[in-house]
Amino acid sequence: MPDDGRFPIETLQPDPVDVLSRVFGHPGFRGRQEEVVRHVAAGGSGLVLMPTGGGKSLCFQVPALCRDGTGIVVSPLIALMEDQVAALRQQGIAAAALHSDLPEGEARKVLADLHAGELKLLYVSPERLTLEGMLSRLEGLPIALFAVDEAHCVSQWGHHFRPEYRGLGVLSERFARTPRLALTATADPRTVEDIRRQLGLDEDPVFRGGFDRPNIRIEASPRDQERGQLRAFLKEHAGVGGAGIVYCGTRVKTEQTAEWLRADGHDALCFHAGMDAGAKRDAHRRFARGDAVVMCATIAFGMGIDRPDVRWVVHLDLPRSPESWYQEIGRAGRDGLPARALLLYGAGDIALARHRIEESPADPAQKRIERQRLDAMVAIAEAATCRRQLLLRCFGEDASEDRCGNCDVCQDPPRLFDGTVAAQKLLSAVYRTGQRFGVGHVVDVLRGRLTDKVAQFAHDRLPTFGVGKDMADALCRSVARQLVARGALDVAVENHGELVLTDGARPILKGEEKVMLREEVARVGHAPRGARTGAAATPGDPLFERLREWRKAEAQAQSVPAYVIFQDRTLAEIAASRPRSLDQLGTIPGVGRTKLDRYGAAVLKVLSD
Ligand code: ADP
Ligand code: ZN
Repeated sequence: MPDDGRFPIETLQPDPVDVLSRVFGHPGFRGRQEEVVRHVAAGGSGLVLMPTGGGKSLCFQVPALCRDGTGIVVSPLIALMEDQVAALRQQGIAAAALHSDLPEGEARKVLADLHAGELKLLYVSPERLTLEGMLSRLEGLPIALFAVDEAHCVSQWGHHFRPEYRGLGVLSERFARTPRLALTATADPRTVEDIRRQLGLDEDPVFRGGFDRPNIRIEASPRDQERGQLRAFLKEHAGVGGAGIVYCGTRVKTEQTAEWLRADGHDALCFHAGMDAGAKRDAHRRFARGDAVVMCATIAFGMGIDRPDVRWVVHLDLPRSPESWYQEIGRAGRDGLPARALLLYGAGDIALARHRIEESPADPAQKRIERQRLDAMVAIAEAATCRRQLLLRCFGEDASEDRCGNCDVCQDPPRLFDGTVAAQKLLSAVYRTGQRFGVGHVVDVLRGRLTDKVAQFAHDRLPTFGVGKDMADALCRSVARQLVARGALDVAVENHGELVLTDGARPILKGEEKVMLREEVARVGHAPRGARTGAAATPGDPLFERLREWRKAEAQAQSVPAYVIFQDRTLAEIAASRPRSLDQLGTIPGVGRTKLDRYGAAVLKVLSD
């Protein structure tokens, strides 16, 4: 065993809490980790549902270290495997990965180590694991456990279905006595049942962690000047360090956004499924390396982002469901430090998403579900009550408090006003102009502006011409958007974006329905004072900065991502408590025994210089 006698040769299993503190340097488990770890260490199987950043990895890493034999981890992405292996090696754990990118010679070496019993954890791609040769090889070896990471890839319900994952059902047949642990951040009940069935875990417990991520401040805002809003947001993050992700609705928008951000002086990259494999891998590596990059991406960029210091996630277009939004913003702040998620959206996005559902080939039941998800997403975007509560309710979780205190609505509640008359004016202007014009022209008619187009269509002779003289343009647009959001108006997005009435408009026009609207006074994406992200460690503390420089050099020398050496959080803690001895340094969370041996002296030297 390569662990230098850290695990005494005895028949008793090491205690999980002990392993956690000695090897990983963490003082205790979080949430349901301990329950899962003890269950698996004792030979049990099950399914773990925890949010991104919830700490799923330890749920299989610790029991693998407690049990005899090698822990086999199935992972869908090579980049993800490599990062995890690098991080494990930093903790002094014998780990390796087997996948199609590995040169033949190296693969042989990994297999030899496996047979010699010298690996505690082996990451394998699903297609490699399910080869007959590999399965029969493993049958002859002591296996501590199987972990299936990103287990939702097995389900066709999710957005990340991977046919190779289907073959993993074989594990329950051929390794019935070996613990099998599936892990995912997807909480959708249908996907969960699918995973259990496919992987033969029907009889085994499901461990559901809390889904709240209180360190992520969430905010949403109508998109009026996309670039200006994003610029203002980025300005608030200047000097904070860490990375950011800008999610865009289309591939071309990722490229355009990265381009103007670069022109603005940001280190911006793009990522989407249309790029070739090499370019994707490069982008992934640049991101993982720990530089302060801005990644402009479609939702194809997600799985396998292990980087703990993503400080913010911005959506420039409306996500299709609260589940996807939650997954995407969950990539921020995995280190537990303050992070921010901003959603920008417009009436066109809402209409486009609705049209896509209607036109999709899905069956009616599936469409109904998609519609409900989209409505829930729109409700969050347009919320007049705590956004986090609305979000958590989508996962069947009822927050105990009324207000989370860390969303824009809680911190700066929008005022509501009775907008029935304003809504009626706008709807009748749409109706009178023949439902053939976009919001710009409708606003001109409402405000009584004699433009060429108004003259051309004689719209100045309509009774609605000028009835909205007292309504500012921004208000008219906001009313239109809110009417789209509540389904009283539609936007013909496939056409020229003309506004069209729906059945939902009638009761409003007839005065049978009261319309409460949000007042929007230039709340465009600005965090209230004091909400700066980046309490991020201790920005500006010269000691912290020196430690980061040391870490950067060390990471470069070993060509590993910076955070696998020490996370920001750990460096901040070191800078704050200024340990004077190795013993003191060893008590800091995140400093396990191996890291203390390897880096302790160097860190103390940085501190004393
Ligand atoms: P997930 O796979 O669920 O997205 P990870 O396993 O990558 O999450 O863990 C997220 C972060 O939380 C990592 O930086 C990890 O070091 C940290 N972490 C997990 N469990 C603990 C713990 N018990 N104590 C301290 N830090 C933890
Ligand atoms: Zn809130």
